[in-house]
Amino acid sequence: MAFVVAIDGPAGSGKGTLAKLISEKYGLVNVDTGAMYRCLTLYLVRKGITVEEVDKVEAELPNINIRIERRDGEQYFYLNDEDVSKEIRTTKVNENVAKFAQLKCVRDMVTPMQREMGKTQDVIMEGRDITTVVFPNADVKIYLDCSEEERANRRYKQNLEKGIECTYEEVLKSIQERNRLETEREIAPLTKAEDAIVIDSTNLSIPEVAEAAYKIIDAKKEELK
Ligand code: C5P
Repeated sequence: MAFVVAIDGPAGSGKGTLAKLISEKYGLVNVDTGAMYRCLTLYLVRKGITVEEVDKVEAELPNINIRIERRDGEQYFYLNDEDVSKEIRTTKVNENVAKFAQLKCVRDMVTPMQREMGKTQDVIMEGRDITTVVFPNADVKIYLDCSEEERANRRYKQNLEKGIECTYEEVLKSIQERNRLETEREIAPLTKAEDAIVIDSTNLSIPEVAEAAYKIIDAKKEELK
């Protein structure tokens, strides 16, 4: 196996930002695993398929091809050769992704793709089950935590900057609902792996979170020398 840094944590804890910094500093290939579930969800939502229609979901999976391209340090997601990087961040996907991500057939398709990516190249992979299911033997395992209120606060500010109308209460409610689905689901729930190191980003700046992570990675690299 190549060198693997795995990060899990709830939505809005800052995993994406941290993963990008780590990828740049250590030259690791960055994989946003949530975006893979988002691509699948977009395909199914476009077809009008709901999460209750498991047979239909299963029948469509072989028709779905997800590809990641990397340009200038950014990840671009292709769904059957169409660049859907923007569309996978829209409300219709936000509202459905945690539901489809609960399905066994969906996880059985995505998990092996992720494992394959970490076989031949050094990666930083972030998501919900990377430290527990995808790479339980990763070289570095980090659980990035953050209070629900602060996560809602960050998302609320982001929305305002993007001109998306919403109230803080609505954002908090949607974060709580997604959290509930992700931590209570039967397969691959979001949970801290026993041997993952926790960084709580609630009261930390981005550089402070990055510093904490670099220390953990540097210590591991030293140990592997
Ligand atoms: O990280 P992001 O919010 O983009 O992830 C979208 C959704 O994909 C999450 O709400 C979660 O339900 C699902 N997911 C998952 N396992 C992962 C990454 C994301 O179930 N490793």
